[in-house]
Amino acid sequence: MLQIRNLKKRYEDLQVINGIDVDIESNKTTVIIGPSGSGKTTLLRSLNLLTIPDSGDISLNDTTLRFGEKRPLQKKQMIEFRKKTGMVFQSFNLFSHRTVIENIIEGPVTVLKKKKAEAIQEGMVLLEKVGLAEKANQYPSQLSGGQQQRVAIARALAMKPEVLLFDEPTSALDPELEIEVLEIIKTLVKEHYTIVIVTHKMGFAKEIADHVIFLENGNILEQGSFSSLYQSGNERINKFLTSLQ
Ligand code: ADP
Repeated sequence: MLQIRNLKKRYEDLQVINGIDVDIESNKTTVIIGPSGSGKTTLLRSLNLLTIPDSGDISLNDTTLRFGEKRPLQKKQMIEFRKKTGMVFQSFNLFSHRTVIENIIEGPVTVLKKKKAEAIQEGMVLLEKVGLAEKANQYPSQLSGGQQQRVAIARALAMKPEVLLFDEPTSALDPELEIEVLEIIKTLVKEHYTIVIVTHKMGFAKEIADHVIFLENGNILEQGSFSSLYQSGNERINKFLTSLQ
C-alpha cells in the first residue's frame, strides 16, 4: 500500500537517505531499526512530509508524490497526503494550552471539517480505547508522560489515517510508564492497523514486527523477518541486535 522508490535526502554534505526502496504492506507492522544517525527518523518524517525528500517517489494507495521534479508539490496535494498518515512523536507534541479532548478534536474539526459534537463523541470513544476518558477535560501538564503519549495516540487515530507512524514512542518515558504505551501499540497491532515504527526496544519490536528494515548510513542493509535478520550472518546486524534487548 505504501511504496517508497529511490528516496533521497541530503543535509548539506551529509546524504541521510541514500536511494531507499521499500514496500510497506497494509495491515502489517513494519519496524525500522538501526544505529543512531542512520536516517530512521528522517525516513519516517518523509512519510508524513514533515521532511521533504530531495528526490524519489512515495505512493500511498492511489496517490503518488514525486519529489525533486521541476514543478514543486502543491500545498493541497501535501495536505491530502498528510491526512492519510498519522504521526506519534517521541515528545508527544500535544497543545499545552488545550484540554485532552480539545487536542483530539483539533484535526477532525479543522482539517476534516467534522462537526464539533461528532468529533467530541468520536474522540471520547478513542479516549476510552486508550483508557483515559476520565482525563478528557484536563490539560496535558496534569497528565503523566505515559498518559500524554496515550492521548497523542488517540489524537493520531482521530484522523483515521491509512498509516500510523511512531517515532521512538517511549524514548522520553521512564520505564514504568513505557509499558502502558507499549500495551496500547500492541492492541493496535492486533487490530491490524498499518503501522511503521522506529524503536530501539528489541524485545517489543520482535513481538510486534511483521517486517523489519535495518538502516545504516541511509541505506537498507537488510530487510525481512527478525529471524531472517539474525540468519543474515551480517556481523554488524548481529552485534546491533544483541546489544539492545
Ligand atoms: P536516526 O533516527 O537513525 O538517529 P536521523 O534521521 O535523526 O537518524 O538523522 C540522520 C542524520 O541526519 C544525522 O546525522 C542527523 O544529525 C542528520 N540530520 C537530521 N535532521 C537534520 C536536519 N534538519 N539538519 C541537518 N542534519 C540533520
